[in-house]
Amino acid sequence: MRRVLVTGGAGFLGSHLCDRLIAQGYDVLCVDNFFTGSKLNIQHLLRHPNFELLRHDVTFPLYVEVDQIFNLACPASPIHYQHDPVQTTKTSVHGAINMLGLAKRVKARILQASTSEVYGDPEVHPQTENYWGRVNPIGIRACYDEGKRCAETLFFDYWRQHRLEIKVVRIFNTYGPRMHLNDGRVVSNFIVQALKGEPITLYGDGTQTRSFCYVDDLIEGIMRMMDSPKEFTGPVNLGNTEELSMMELAEKVLSVTGSKSQIIFQPSPQDDPQRRKPDIALAKQHLGWLPQIPLEDGLKETVSYFRHILKGSGFRR
Ligand code: NAD
Ligand code: UDP
Repeated sequence: MRRVLVTGGAGFLGSHLCDRLIAQGYDVLCVDNFFTGSKLNIQHLLRHPNFELLRHDVTFPLYVEVDQIFNLACPASPIHYQHDPVQTTKTSVHGAINMLGLAKRVKARILQASTSEVYGDPEVHPQTENYWGRVNPIGIRACYDEGKRCAETLFFDYWRQHRLEIKVVRIFNTYGPRMHLNDGRVVSNFIVQALKGEPITLYGDGTQTRSFCYVDDLIEGIMRMMDSPKEFTGPVNLGNTEELSMMELAEKVLSVTGSKSQIIFQPSPQDDPQRRKPDIALAKQHLGWLPQIPLEDGLKETVSYFRHILKGSGFRR
C-alpha cells in the first residue's frame, strides 16, 4: 500500500485531498498545526484504518516513512497569512526545506502547492507558466508570495541538485465546501454575508477580476499531476479560465442565495492584483485536465454547505 503524507491536510484543500486519497486506497498521514485548518474537516476520516492524524508544525523537521508527499501546509487567505507574516514565510520556506529533506531521505516524490500569487499583479494576461511575475518584495502580501516563490526555487534546486522527483502546481483561486466561515477570502465572505443578510463588502471599485475553480476540479488536477511522468515537473497552472469581476461575483452570489443584502464599497487592500486568469494549455496537454464544474453549480454547492454551517449543525461534507 502506498503511504502518502499530506501537510495542511486538515485545511480546505488538504481535507478534500485526504478524502480522495483514502477513496483510492492510499494510506494517508495528515499533518497539520490547525492554524487555519480544523479537525471538523477530517473527523469523518479519524476512524478509517488507513488514516492517521499528526499535530505538527512543518517549520520543524519531521521523521516519517512515506512514498509520496503533498505539501499544502500554509495559510492561504490574505487576512490569515498577514496575521503572522514571519510565520507565513517560515511555513513556506522552512516547511519546504523540511519536506524536501524528508523526501530526499526516503526517496519520495513530492508535490508543492504553489500559487497564482507568484505572478503578483501581472502584466501578462492570461498568466502563462513562463511569465516571471510582478511581486512587490516588501509589501504586505510578500510573506506569502515571496515565501511561495522561494519554495519553488528550493523545489527546482532539489530537482537539479539531488534529482528529487518534484511536482509544482500553481493553484488559482479555488472555492467550495469546507472553506472556513471566517476564511476571509472573497467567495466565503460574500456567501456568508448574503446568507446572514449583512452588507456584501466589495473592496476597491469591484472591477478587479479573478477566475474561480471548484474544489473537486482542483483536486483532480493535483492527483493527475502527482501521477504524471517523472520528467514533467511543472510548474503547471491549475485553475478555471472563467474570469469575472468582483462586482459580477457579488451579483452572482446575490442571485444564487436569493439574498437582499446591499453591496458596500470598502478600500482596496494594498497590492491587490487587478486581473487574474490562468492559461491552462500546459495542464491540458500534459495532464489531460480541464475544469468541469461551472461557477453557478459550484456556488450552489458552496451556498448549501454554508447554510448548514450557519445553522450550527457542525455538519461537514
Ligand atoms: P487552508 O488555510 O484552509 O489550509 C492550510 C492548512 O495548512 C491549514 O489546515 C493550516 O492549519 C495548515 N498549516 C498552516 N501552517 C502550518 C504549519 N506551519 N504547519 C502545519 N500545518 C500548517 O488553505 P487552502 O485553501 O486549503 O490552501 C492549501 C494550500 O493550497 C496552501 O499551501 C495554499 O497556499 C495553496 N493555495 C490555495 C489556493 C486556494 O484558492 N484555495 C490558491 C493557491 C494556493
Ligand atoms: N475581496 C472583496 N471583498 C471581500 C474579500 C475580498 O472585494 O470581502 C476582493 C479582494 O480585494 C480581491 C478579490 O476579492 O480583489 C479576491 O480576494 P481573495 O482574498 O479571495 O483572494 P486573492 O486576492 O488572494 O486572490
